[in-house]
Amino acid sequence: MKDCIFCKIASGEIPSNKVYEDDQVIAFHDLSPAAKVHVLVIPKKHIANVMEINEENSGIVAHIFEVIAYLAKELKLEQGFRVVSNCNEFGGQSVFHLHFHLIGGEQLDVKMC
Ligand code: 5GP
Ligand code: ZN
Repeated sequence: MKDCIFCKIASGEIPSNKVYEDDQVIAFHDLSPAAKVHVLVIPKKHIANVMEINEENSGIVAHIFEVIAYLAKELKLEQGFRVVSNCNEFGGQSVFHLHFHLIGGEQLDVKMC
């Protein structure tokens, strides 16, 4: 999608500090990390956010969680971590391409729920 920063990262047009890539998914370090480990896992195909997940595209979400489980081991997050997807204005979403924050590497202290 034109003018989508994460589509540009997925295509390689904008560089990123990649930790994982396959034909459907890419994962890279967040530019402004909220914890010692802060990785974003995104589908290469543009989906705006959780509101756009449906019967046709939900397979990618299952795959993303397989990748998250793999990365949690690779990044040595066995002690614990959090997965977050912010959605729309009230959720604080700032990039409108579906992404899952994988946050850990230390004790996380802001517990929202
Ligand atoms: P959101 O606020 O939509 O939940 O998350 C967007 C995240 O993308 C933020 O944590 C922000 O730091 C990160 N981000 C925004 N632009 C870039 C970029 O160009 N490169 C990387 N690696 N992260 C970015
Ligand atoms: Zn996009």
